Amino acid sequence: MGYFKSNPDSKGNFGEYGGSFIPPDLQAEMDKITDAYFSISKSHDFITELRSIRKHFQGRPTPVYYARTLSEKYGGRIYLKREDLNHTGAHKLNHCMGEALLAKYLGKKKLIAETGAGQHGVALATAAAYFGLDCEIHMGEVDIAKEHPNVVRMKILGAKVIPVTFGLRTLKEAVDSAFGAYLQDPVTSIYCIGSVVGPHPFPMMVRDFQRVVGIEAKEQFHDMTGEQPDNVVACVGGGSNAMGLFSAFIEDGECEIYGVEPSGRSLNLGDHAATMTMGKPGMIHGFKCYNLQDEKGEPAPVYSIASGLDYPGVGPEHSMLKDLGRVNYVVASDRDCLDSFFELSRLEGIIPALESAHAVAYACKLATMKPRQSILVNLSGRGDKDIDFVVDNYGKEYGLE
Ligand SMILES: *Cc1c(COP(=O)(O)O)cnc(C)c1O
Repeated sequence: MGYFKSNPDSKGNFGEYGGSFIPPDLQAEMDKITDAYFSISKSHDFITELRSIRKHFQGRPTPVYYARTLSEKYGGRIYLKREDLNHTGAHKLNHCMGEALLAKYLGKKKLIAETGAGQHGVALATAAAYFGLDCEIHMGEVDIAKEHPNVVRMKILGAKVIPVTFGLRTLKEAVDSAFGAYLQDPVTSIYCIGSVVGPHPFPMMVRDFQRVVGIEAKEQFHDMTGEQPDNVVACVGGGSNAMGLFSAFIEDGECEIYGVEPSGRSLNLGDHAATMTMGKPGMIHGFKCYNLQDEKGEPAPVYSIASGLDYPGVGPEHSMLKDLGRVNYVVASDRDCLDSFFELSRLEGIIPALESAHAVAYACKLATMKPRQSILVNLSGRGDKDIDFVVDNYGKEYGLE
């Protein structure tokens, strides 16, 4: 049990990464959140309420599914942890319900967040509705246009969607905008980060709320096969669905772990968001991690077909796990993603989120390399949000009229 006791340390460091580099007034609020998290999250009432929410509202546990047809095609034995069946269609509700429950215990009135693909915004708007809290979601204009159904969902759920009109108008600018809004009112509002990123305590807190994915999957996989998986695979944007799954296997030395980043259109700067594959350690949004930077040391423009993966930083824990060599960070391209998006739909009857399709794509590649081994993939979300975009831009190529 040593790993979780020492990662992060009491200052929020994961090895040389993580920490908290923010203005003093914001730091004071973060310290309050940290203290509250440590006491409240261990309380019987909090744990009981969160368990009940997961079971009765979210529909957990989500199943593990053996993808027989895909396995027959590629070799190996490919299993999917079905986070696409979690309420709101992705893993993100796991940490949003935790963050909102914490907000309730702290007496906060409003949840503030950024969103990329819109999944975090929808999940947080859902959590806010559940607890009767106000909700303000900052979203880049580019993503608003691309992810229209999620924008409508947030509004139906009662959230206020704030369009972000500066810079590349995607996830990075949305984070800046949401941070700014939180700084104006840190007493009655709380900032709910959408991944295992940002200053301490968020990388730890979001990971802890996502651990349910790994804990369930490990037990379910064992019940189905009598074994532990030989390999686990997840896509990495900020890295929350990946940390959720990986956390159950980090201390199991036999298990090979793969984090899949988007190589987008190419590995030229601006064409991808493969932060750990192509980046170097640096600072972003108040914490240390691998970064994609331009020649001036500013966060570089990033791109992926999957809005939820295009962030120029990554979780500090992933940065540490990369340096330790415990997790292999690999890439899948836009094309790999699209092929898997259609293949999983047609072979298994599951339309994956474009983010998740990156993990499926790499798992299929792995299956051909390791035909006798088992592979457990985190299917982080469902693809309903992506269908209009995919059909409009790629439908013809994949045989749709
Ligand atoms: C947001 C999102 C991701 C990426 O976020 P992580 O924090 O890296 O997990 C992956 N899959 C889906 C479906 C998402 O909505």
